[in-house]
Amino acid sequence: MLPSFRDEFLLPRHTDGTPAVYLCGNSLGLQPRGVKEAMHQELEDWANYGVEGHFHAKNPWVSYHEPFRRPLAHVLGAKELEVAALGTLTNNLHLLMVSFYRPTKERFKIVIEAGAFPSDQYAVDSQARFHGFDPKEAVVEFKPREGESTLRTEDVEEYLEKEGDQVALVLFGGVNYYTGQAFDIARITAATHAAGAVSGWDLAHAAGNLHLKLHEWGVDFATWCSYKYLNAGPGAASGIFVHEKHFDEDLPRFQGWWGHDPDTRFKMTREFKPARGADAWQLSNAPVFNMVALKVSLGLFEAATMPALRERSVALTSALLEALPQNDSYEVITPRDPKDRGSQLSFRVPKGRSLFEKLSAAGVICDWREPDVIRIALAPLYNDFDDVERFVSILSTLA
Ligand SMILES: *Cc1c(COP(=O)(O)O)cnc(C)c1O
Repeated sequence: MLPSFRDEFLLPRHTDGTPAVYLCGNSLGLQPRGVKEAMHQELEDWANYGVEGHFHAKNPWVSYHEPFRRPLAHVLGAKELEVAALGTLTNNLHLLMVSFYRPTKERFKIVIEAGAFPSDQYAVDSQARFHGFDPKEAVVEFKPREGESTLRTEDVEEYLEKEGDQVALVLFGGVNYYTGQAFDIARITAATHAAGAVSGWDLAHAAGNLHLKLHEWGVDFATWCSYKYLNAGPGAASGIFVHEKHFDEDLPRFQGWWGHDPDTRFKMTREFKPARGADAWQLSNAPVFNMVALKVSLGLFEAATMPALRERSVALTSALLEALPQNDSYEVITPRDPKDRGSQLSFRVPKGRSLFEKLSAAGVICDWREPDVIRIALAPLYNDFDDVERFVSILSTLA
């Protein structure tokens, strides 16, 4: 199996000085060791060159975003021109919906998974309203069956078969942030297309976690953030995917100068000529300092490769589930079958927050999501089997 890249990361410490059990890579990935030096390089180049750093910096800022394409394409399962590092996740959701949510009187609904991340709910509500629809009618929150915590793909398929002619867009999270359920992106995309709708994905919890094949699955568009499994630091530049089949379409798009064809961008002409591919959605020049850590981290993903990381992730989560003592103070609501989950496991705790607080006091860094879930994630780049053992042994003494 792929060895751990733990030594490439800086690990937070518990208050007593011992290394914490860090199980929060689904919320904020750790800092790769190489970031400080890489950041220093940009600071030095800025100091030494000023504006000329755009051309003379070691990594010239005018084309700073370009080398991100290849590693991002590998992480997302895309072609290089289909991906771009830019913006932030919620911003990108809006930019992409401007292009891909084009409702008509008959076909105007957006289907999201019930319990989607609040920012996504707010984004789709406001998009529906922007087009003159009442979100109560236009936004469909797809719920699990009574008494179940997670969705069944066949239910989504059946809904789309029956009611799909009103659906303009299906926008799910690749992995639900609360339950940790990984959706079958290929099947849901196929069902979405069969219904005549657009398939969009929020991959905040899937990028750098699942082995994605966005191009092959025919996903229309996707966006993600880079500070979770991709370890790019708080608020880091996000990224987008637009399938190649849309490159030659005349899509509505909110435009900015960095989306212009780079060969003629600096001619500063009045006409906007879009760059080919995902780059056309860029508005502004690259936020270099917000991309430094992403660049370093993507180097580690290139070395590790996504299929090998995914294998390690499944081994880690399976080991944890196997070692977990039966206990009525928690219930794992994340699906047991590895194909239906990523690196995250969600524990429903009927007795409330106290177990989470005890875990924190014992040196486990995980998180609490209202109303009743403790989330842990075993990020395969830096978590190892020792973390699994330590978590299980701490949990056994507390629960
Ligand atoms: C983390 C996360 C966000 C956060 O959005 P930002 O715009 O990066 O602040 C949005 N949606 C989902 C599903 C998330 O998991």
